[in-house]
Amino acid sequence: ATSWYRNQCTVSRTVFNDPIHGHIELPPLLVKIIDTPQFQRLRKIKQLGGGYYVFPGASHNRFEHSVGVGHLAGELVKALRAKQLEEPSLNSESLINDRDVLCVQIAGLCHDLGGVHFESVIIKMLAFVFLQHEDASILMFDHLVDDNKLTPVMNEYGLITEGDNENDLVFIKEMIKGSSGLFLEKTMPNLYKGRNNEKSFLYEIVANKQNGIDVDKFDYFARDCHHLGIQNNFDHRRFIVFARVCNVDGQLHICSRDKEMANLYDMFHTRNSLHRRAYQHRVKMAVEIMIKDALLKADQDKHFIKWAEGKACCLSKAKKHKEAYTKLTGRGFEVWCLKLTTHLTFKTSELRIMRRDLYQLVGEIKVAKFDYGKNNEDPISNYTYFYSKFNPTIGFKIKPEEVSNLRPECFSEKHIRVYWKRRNDKRLEDAKKCFEAVKKVLLFYIMTLVNPLKRAAHTCSVKEGQFGVYVQHP
Ligand SMILES: [Zn+2]
Repeated sequence: ATSWYRNQCTVSRTVFNDPIHGHIELPPLLVKIIDTPQFQRLRKIKQLGGGYYVFPGASHNRFEHSVGVGHLAGELVKALRAKQLEEPSLNSESLINDRDVLCVQIAGLCHDLGGVHFESVIIKMLAFVFLQHEDASILMFDHLVDDNKLTPVMNEYGLITEGDNENDLVFIKEMIKGSSGLFLEKTMPNLYKGRNNEKSFLYEIVANKQNGIDVDKFDYFARDCHHLGIQNNFDHRRFIVFARVCNVDGQLHICSRDKEMANLYDMFHTRNSLHRRAYQHRVKMAVEIMIKDALLKADQDKHFIKWAEGKACCLSKAKKHKEAYTKLTGRGFEVWCLKLTTHLTFKTSELRIMRRDLYQLVGEIKVAKFDYGKNNEDPISNYTYFYSKFNPTIGFKIKPEEVSNLRPECFSEKHIRVYWKRRNDKRLEDAKKCFEAVKKVLLFYIMTLVNPLKRAAHTCSVKEGQFGVYVQHP
C-alpha cells in the first residue's frame, strides 16, 4: 500500500489552470481518466444549454465543471481527514484513508459523465424519458473503465476492483448515485455496499440527496455565476474550512459550525437567484422549447443517429445504445442540424432561432409553496447538522426558533409559462390579455391537478417544475 502512495507523491502531477479554482493539481489516476474519449466528450456539452443563447459568456462546458468537482471533492475529503486526525479517540473504522480520498475524487470527476447536450430539453422536456442523469453517468463510467482497460491501472494505484468487500468501483458508482437521504442507525444493516455505515458520511460529498449541500453545487454555483456575470454570495472555501465529521445519534455525518448557518442560507439564496435569473430565464426557455419541438419532429426519423454501417436508431432510442448515447453532444447537434435541413420544421426552427424570431411569452403563473416533497422544506433546519465550538465531535439539528428571522419562507418556486409559437403578430397582444383574464381560473385548475401532476412529474423525473405547459396557437 505504501508503494502506490509513493507513486502518487513522486510522479509529476498534472496542473490545470482553472478560472474558478486557480491552479489545481490532480493525482495521476484522475488524469488517466480525463485522457479518455468518454471524458473528453464532456468538452462538447454546454453546461447551460440554451442559456448560451441569452448570456454571451455562458459557453462553458461539462468538462471544466467535472474537473472542478473532482478537485473540490478532494479538497473537502482531505479537510475532513485533517480534522479527524486531531481526534485521537476516533475509532479507526471511520478514519478516512488514502483509498477513500482517491475514490471520492474519482466520483466527483465522473459524476456528470452521462451528460448530453441540451440535457434539460432532451431529458426533462421530451416525453420519452432517458435514464436518470446519475444512472447514465454510472453506465458511462463502466464503459470508460472497460474501454480504456483502466482496472489494472486502478489496482496499481491501490484501488480494489474485485469482490464484495469494499469494492472501490462499487463505492465510486454509489457515490455518483448519491447519499440515500435515509437516516442510519447503528443496528441497521449496511445501506451501501462500497463502504460500511461507519463511513456513510463519504456519500454526502459528491451528491448529497439529503440537504443538497455538495461539491457539485459548489462548483456549478461558482462557475455558472462567473460565466453568467452574476454575483455568487456563497463561499464554498469557507464551508470546507468549517466542515467536520461528527456523531449525530450514533451515526457520522458531515456537519457545519453553528455560526455558519446564515452562510448556508446564502447558498440556497444563490441557487434561487440562479434559477430565477438564468436557468429558468424566459428567453432561454423559449429557445429550449423551440429545440424540443424540432427534436420531436426529428424523432420520426428511424435512422436519426448512426454510429456504424447499418447501425442507427431514432433519437428517443439513443438511451438503449451507448454508442448512440455518446453522440448526444454539441457536435452531434450540429451534425443533426445539417442533416435536418431536409426536415422543414427543423430548418424553420433553426432559422427562427438564428434570426431570434423566438416564441414569445404570453404570461406566467408563479406557483410558490407548491407542495413538492422535500423541495419546499427548509433543507437547513430539517436536514443539516451543526456542531458547536464547545463540543466539536457531536452534531445536532438547529431548533426552528434559533433560525434567523430573515430565513426565506419559500425554498422552491415553480412557474407555469405560456408561450406563443407563431411569429410575432398583433394577436399576441390579444393572447396576453386573454391570459391575464383566465390566469386565476387557470391557477385554480392547476392547483386542483397538483396530485396527478406530482405523480406524473415523479415518473418523468421533472425536478425543477417546468411542466412545459404552453398553449398551441389558436
Ligand atoms: Zn455536476
